[in-house]
Amino acid sequence: MPPIAFINNEFVPIDEARVSIRTNALQYGTGIFEGIRAYWNAQHKQLFVFKMAEHYERLLNNCRVLRLQVGKDVKELCDITLELVRKNEHREDTYIRPLAYISSEGLGPKLIGYETGFAIYTLPLGDYIDTSTGVKVGFSSWRRISDNMIPARCKVTGGYVNSALAKTEALEQGFDEAIFLTQDGFISEGSAMNIFLIRDGKLMTPDRSADILEGITREVLIELGREELGLEVIERPVGRSELYLADEAFLCGTGAQVSPIIEVDRRAIGDGKIGPLTAKIQELYFRVVKAEHPKYQHWCAPVY
Ligand code: PMP
Repeated sequence: MPPIAFINNEFVPIDEARVSIRTNALQYGTGIFEGIRAYWNAQHKQLFVFKMAEHYERLLNNCRVLRLQVGKDVKELCDITLELVRKNEHREDTYIRPLAYISSEGLGPKLIGYETGFAIYTLPLGDYIDTSTGVKVGFSSWRRISDNMIPARCKVTGGYVNSALAKTEALEQGFDEAIFLTQDGFISEGSAMNIFLIRDGKLMTPDRSADILEGITREVLIELGREELGLEVIERPVGRSELYLADEAFLCGTGAQVSPIIEVDRRAIGDGKIGPLTAKIQELYFRVVKAEHPKYQHWCAPVY
């Protein structure tokens, strides 16, 4: 049975979820998307969608910036998502991709006077980038798009050209992932993930003015770091050489999960192995997302 997608208020086989080549969003990148994960808990034979409402809150907020009108509230979007995942009978870790976009076929980049389309598809997904052996990163020659160009704070489809340029450069240089600097030369984030550093036992991450996507995983790890691990967590501008000097570092995101960084620009981070605090944070994160941590089960919505 082919996977089912949701588009134009209908559940249809994925092959029928199509758009015209004249679609405005295809020409101009005028869309807002999300990435949500659901985790299979084998013990409870249950699939849990992690932080689903927060992802849809972000999507609807981002849509205000692009003047998109989804015409549904968070609760309706969550219900549609659960129904779609059930229809696809996923019983494995799953990725959910909602997309709001200018579906009109009008010519010209603008945000008003057009119709909004909304679609969701799902797919099984394991690691997006390595989480077990550690990744090697390099600073990109591409700067992060700044807030007055394309707001990186919002998951604008067109903004991911910036990510694609940086990620491609990184891969071709033999790195696993790119790290962006802002126009001002401070650390921003990876191509599709936020970054944390650990120095002297403190967690540190670029603040919201560093042209980052306001990551839900980032927020989760700030809370878990403070509440469960008793760590001091600092959000502030972070210099490039601070990453060279970090004891530990990791990437985080819905796709990336918690991905330890072991090398930056060919310099080992710490002793070049996965750091002990990073390993602890990762272990805690995986317990929380699989609904194995009683205190945070309300972050995980059961599908079945
Ligand atoms: N930054 C960028 C550019 C991203 O695409 C993502 C993935 N959504 C993240 C950070 C991490 O955000 P989240 O934790 O909400 O998935």
